[in-house]
Amino acid sequence: MTFSDLGLSEKVLAAVVAAGYEKPTPIQAQAIPHVLARKDVLGVAQTGTGKTASFTLPMLSLLESGRARARMPRTLILEPTRELAAQVEQSFSVYGQNHRLTVALLIGGVSFADQLKKLDRGADVLIATPGRLLDHFDRGKLLLTGVETFVVDEADRMLDMGFIPDIERICKLLPFTRQTVFFSATMPKEIQSLADQFLHNPVKVEVAPPSSTAKTITQKLVASGPKPWDKRAVLRTMIEQAQELKNAIIFCNRKRDVATVSRSLSKHGFNAGALHGDMDQTSRMATLDSFKNSKLNLLVASDVAARGLDIPSVSHVFNFDLPTHAEDYVHRIGRTGRAGREGVAISIATKADRKYIDAIEKLTGDTIAWIGEMDFSSTSQEDDENPAANKRSRRARGGRAKTDTAKSEDRQSNSKKKNESSASGQTDTQEVNRKPEPPAPAPRQERSKSSSRRSRQRDDRQVIGMGDHVPAFLLQPIRPQKPKPSKSKSAD
Ligand code: ADP
Ligand code: MG
Repeated sequence: MTFSDLGLSEKVLAAVVAAGYEKPTPIQAQAIPHVLARKDVLGVAQTGTGKTASFTLPMLSLLESGRARARMPRTLILEPTRELAAQVEQSFSVYGQNHRLTVALLIGGVSFADQLKKLDRGADVLIATPGRLLDHFDRGKLLLTGVETFVVDEADRMLDMGFIPDIERICKLLPFTRQTVFFSATMPKEIQSLADQFLHNPVKVEVAPPSSTAKTITQKLVASGPKPWDKRAVLRTMIEQAQELKNAIIFCNRKRDVATVSRSLSKHGFNAGALHGDMDQTSRMATLDSFKNSKLNLLVASDVAARGLDIPSVSHVFNFDLPTHAEDYVHRIGRTGRAGREGVAISIATKADRKYIDAIEKLTGDTIAWIGEMDFSSTSQEDDENPAANKRSRRARGGRAKTDTAKSEDRQSNSKKKNESSASGQTDTQEVNRKPEPPAPAPRQERSKSSSRRSRQRDDRQVIGMGDHVPAFLLQPIRPQKPKPSKSKSAD
């Protein structure tokens, strides 16, 4: 099977050759002819199997006839996250390099004005996250009655993110005669019933059984003590011992932990960055770009931030936390072993995680082997994310307390050093830097007053409520109010 057997136009075929694809992936081979025939399609294939091209390539062929009208996009693709939407836009510019099509991207965190300009010109392809699309619609800037093809990509993620009501609303704004295409890595019942409602006689294209994991991924579990610093120490060991680690995504369940783990890795001289939902669009894109072009080699991320990201060659995935939903496990480890490459997925498990492991093994049908012994006891000392340990290590180096900027510069230079050292094969000083320092006994009372003040300043960065600041109105004396004569009394 080759791309030229699928009925795609010459322009599209030329772009596919230029992109370096030799043959279609199974989902592409099966879905493309149906999308080209303007049929409704329900496509299920695991993450990393090339679902994006399964709809973008035939859409490009179909768009070659006809023209866009102002504010009336001809096709609409919904994506659950901004990153995914931006990636699909990127796909259109790669595969559509021989076309002159207008592609508009409507995502949050970007100015409305630029988006409106594109809509006004007439968009052939509109790629949007549901919320921003409805914002534009409600402002009267957009008509959806000209949509010929409607794609809901990463449908199961849409469900996770609570977008189903938005999708239902959007479906009702579209013309009745249209083509509807759903793509998903898994097919939970909610997505199936959405499909039953909005797809007409769909062709179901299912490549792997839902929720299966790629055969090219080696999955492992590693036991850890229950504390965050236990897990951070295990993570460092796993990274250090990993073979042929080119780059890795480290998943955490909570945004807060994404930041902490990333900071801790950087402090230990690893080249790490964070990606989570609270970051603004620009910094998310910047982090992702650094990861893609290998300036960063460890990306600590939350599920939402990482779902479906097109990072072609991740060699390792680490689960800092086991996901509480087994399907997230499939998505996470699907970041490695993509398009037939070998990959490694290592999950850190505490004693309390047994139930999650059982659910994952039941869902995937795989039994995951353990690395080493299943020792869940707390073995390591609190690490550098513990302020007391921080101070000790700084004192050991003879350093003074540093400002945040200085610290962040340190981190950058550390990361840079790590890059350089790994490039030149020298690891001596950095190895020392990366090893957790032995816990020097540093009883609290020994500390000087000034150092404990510094430490408090640093520790209290996460201020609760208004912190020490008491607004003036709260300092005013409270005058007791005179009781009002009650009405019922006067009536008596
Ligand atoms: P999915 O949406 O199924 O998770 P993507 O569409 O993001 O997967 O594709 C995953 C990766 O595979 C991308 O890096 C993409 O460029 C690559 N890819 C897609 N189709 C092919 C193909 N036919 N041959 C080689 N690589 C491909
Ligand atoms: Mg995808």
